[in-house]
Amino acid sequence: MKKIDNILQDQLIDIKNQGLYKQERIIETAQETEIDVLGKKVINFCANNYLGLANNEDIRKAAVDAINEWGFGLGSVRFICGTQTIHKDLENQISKFLKMDDTILYSSCFDANGGLFETILGPDDAIFSDELNHASIIDGIRLCKAQKFVYKNCNMDDLELKLKESKARVKMIATDGVFSMDGTIAPVDKIVEIAKKYDAITMVDDCHATGFLGKTGRGSAEYFNVLEEVDIITSTFGKALGGASGGFVSSSSEIVDTLRQKSRPYLFSNSLAPALVVACKKAIELIQENISLINKLSENTKYFRSNLSELGFEIKGSDHPIVPVMIYDAKNAVKLSEMLLQSNIYVIPFSFPVVPKGEARIRVQLSSSHTTEQLDKAIEAFNDCGKKLNII
Ligand SMILES: *Cc1c(COP(=O)(O)O)cnc(C)c1O
Repeated sequence: MKKIDNILQDQLIDIKNQGLYKQERIIETAQETEIDVLGKKVINFCANNYLGLANNEDIRKAAVDAINEWGFGLGSVRFICGTQTIHKDLENQISKFLKMDDTILYSSCFDANGGLFETILGPDDAIFSDELNHASIIDGIRLCKAQKFVYKNCNMDDLELKLKESKARVKMIATDGVFSMDGTIAPVDKIVEIAKKYDAITMVDDCHATGFLGKTGRGSAEYFNVLEEVDIITSTFGKALGGASGGFVSSSSEIVDTLRQKSRPYLFSNSLAPALVVACKKAIELIQENISLINKLSENTKYFRSNLSELGFEIKGSDHPIVPVMIYDAKNAVKLSEMLLQSNIYVIPFSFPVVPKGEARIRVQLSSSHTTEQLDKAIEAFNDCGKKLNII
């Protein structure tokens, strides 16, 4: 063994001893509400497959047709010979959907956030970032030379206090549209209002919102009726929009054009594969043509949240298909998830350091493709197991 392997082995043992080692669970089927895990059929409540599009027949067909028409790969970054008609089509479609000037595609939203801040902001500027922002925003901001201020989660007083003191050239407020551990929606309406007051711009990462939050699925800004007032929206194709991979930034033509000139994950990384581009386009089309998908997800969310609350569980957040069921004690959360799995309900427990100490929870994620029967089975299992563990 080389020296580095020894060092890492010690660290890995440490991670295991702390109970923080992450074992990947193998699913033996396509991503659906019912999947095979360890040879057993379970109902899946932990995918970001909010609209059930991950294994949608029309999207699969679009991907296959795209491979036949546009080829498998491009073997080029965008600006050399990696931009096809379909890339521009998808960018235009998203711009229209989000009512923005322009959109730029990335291989992931992690890359989109990683390539955003340092490209458009410098040492004279300042970023005001929510403390619970996604790792990719934190990393993106780390790469940037702008001054950094972290405000308390969704705390507008704290945000305002920090903005008030700043004399920066450009001030940018950066927030997740939805905080995925809590299922809470950022107060984008208030953020936009405060931004106006202090001459700041706003950046919203809508990964857990694009496609299904708001009346027509345009995300957290639409949810609060301020869609055209957010300056920058970043999001992913890896969740509601088909669940494959890819991300984007939508904004003014000046911001997007600057990203095309200078954003490193865009300039120095390969183009999105044609099958993904065409299939993601299909996903957005399907969402716009079938408003019933969004409505069904919303119904499922209300149904599950209210039923679990009535049983006596404490639920965080509101109005979002991420349903954190608060257990507080980490061991109890693990025990409950194991008992639920025995009842064929597949959910994930989260504890420190993913969430604060003593705030362990089970995170249930709903999809429009969950049937009422599946939801009822989960509710019943939560009732049985919760009583056995004296949680309710
Ligand atoms: C999932 C997620 C990302 C990462 O998106 P990828 O496209 O998978 O890289 C970024 N930000 C937030 C808030 C997310 O939830």
